[in-house]
Amino acid sequence: MGPSDLRTARMGDASGGRGTDRSPRTSRRAVLKAGVGALLAGALPGLPRAARADERAVSPLRGPFSLVSGLGGNVLVRATPEGQVIVDSGSPGQAGALLDALESLPGAGRVDALLNTHWHLDQVGGNETFGARGTTIVAHEKTRLRLAHGYYLRDEDRYREAMPAAALPTETLRDRRDLELGGERIEVGYLLEAHTDGDVYVHFTGAGIVAVGDAVSPLRDPELDWFGGGWLGGRVDALARLLEVGDDTTLYVPSYGPAVRRADVAAEHDMMLALFERTTELLRRGYSADEMLAAGVMDDLPRSLAEPAKFLHDVHQSLWAHHNTISHDIV
Ligand SMILES: [Zn+2]
Repeated sequence: MGPSDLRTARMGDASGGRGTDRSPRTSRRAVLKAGVGALLAGALPGLPRAARADERAVSPLRGPFSLVSGLGGNVLVRATPEGQVIVDSGSPGQAGALLDALESLPGAGRVDALLNTHWHLDQVGGNETFGARGTTIVAHEKTRLRLAHGYYLRDEDRYREAMPAAALPTETLRDRRDLELGGERIEVGYLLEAHTDGDVYVHFTGAGIVAVGDAVSPLRDPELDWFGGGWLGGRVDALARLLEVGDDTTLYVPSYGPAVRRADVAAEHDMMLALFERTTELLRRGYSADEMLAAGVMDDLPRSLAEPAKFLHDVHQSLWAHHNTISHDIV
């Protein structure tokens, strides 16, 4: 297939694609906007410089908020009059370092609540430490189920064992839940199949800060844990939902990399939507992931990925897992 074929694929009749009936927001004619290059970490004036993902750092964010990075996924910290509220708990084995970091921040001494953006180990590694100290742990019900029962690791052909009772979420949600913590309303909402099957955003409504876990990836390649329930269509929808949650003053805090602005989330949404349209079209024609790459689906995008072949492999697997929903004529 040559470039002109790909162009045809991109601009092809929408009647067979999912794009037209996904939602009014996701027009097939969505055009990649200029300025997506701002996705590049560090390009945002007024925001903390991008730390390397493995660089331990504690940085102030806005008002009573701080960011602890380099202990797994980012840990967002909000100081309250009673103590601290945190989003995610870092990797296993890093709880001591995380406690040290929290000790250096306002509100030190007690963590009232821990909210998990999803069930990957980089986000729940410190859960047991906090749960054992009486911290309330909030997460999606699917996250609780994963942690309570263990789950199959397809690439390693083994099961990950259940976590101890102290590590498990004590309060869960299925679609949305509002909490009142430290005098601020915190909205927790499901991001259906954005990255896993248990992703949520955590919106601190007073401060205009949204923790988004791995549903937004300004630094690392976007990751679809397709076997864990993530897929490209879910990611597009999740990014659209996140655009509705915030405004131009909102800070979005991903698991890796610096906080980003709504325009950056919009750029990632547009790029994922373009990839959804390109890859679903080629999937319907029977292309493998490697053939999609060779056909140029990653060309002419505002951002290049470090491992496009891996990303497309996961996209491909995730699309097949949803083949019954992406087109009416695949049976
Ligand atoms: Zn993850």
